[in-house]
Amino acid sequence: MTIKLDLNSLQPTYDQILSFPGKQLVTQYVLHNDAPETITTATQGILALLSNHPPLCATFSTQPQEHLETEIKTKKFLVINGNVVCLSDEKKAPISAPKNFVDRFFSLSLLKNPVACIKNHYLEQTYLPFWIAKHGNVCPGGDHPIVSTETDINLNAQYLFKIDEELQWYIDNFRKEKLQHANALSTQKHHIIEQYRNFAFDCYVDLDPVVLL
Ligand SMILES: [Zn+2]
Repeated sequence: MTIKLDLNSLQPTYDQILSFPGKQLVTQYVLHNDAPETITTATQGILALLSNHPPLCATFSTQPQEHLETEIKTKKFLVINGNVVCLSDEKKAPISAPKNFVDRFFSLSLLKNPVACIKNHYLEQTYLPFWIAKHGNVCPGGDHPIVSTETDINLNAQYLFKIDEELQWYIDNFRKEKLQHANALSTQKHHIIEQYRNFAFDCYVDLDPVVLL
């Protein structure tokens, strides 16, 4: 089901950084800052968005409000992925990330605790209890159960959804490599800027004083 969203309540505290046109809205926001008044306004904005659009599925606790405020402060990215709303501490996964590394159905970032549905869609374990509370044992990746229908979905989620530790290891390594690469690029950029500054300064001091007048 596609719903038209009024996103005005997010505008005072969030900047949209990504938006993918398509049948369903897929968009990512980042919080302006973590000042207490920003967090309070952001919390009210998210609560207003959810109460104005009941089909939306929040993948975080909305009560008590202090808990939501802490979540918003520590997870500065807000993702609306179709009818799912997520808070994440990571940006969208890099384009180079293998498909199975990405939390396609919830936050769009790299998976942290990947669990597989019966059709091998990888889902982020952290968000699953909230999805199940709203949609039951139906995979967000299609019209099939997440776990075998013979299993009691109300069982302890930790037991039910076993993390794929091998995949988790590969994803963690991919994340570390990307981070190292980004840091190296940043150092390189800084070095180039410094070189340019030194060069500009040398040109300036080499100039004939008459030219400077
Ligand atoms: Zn599935």
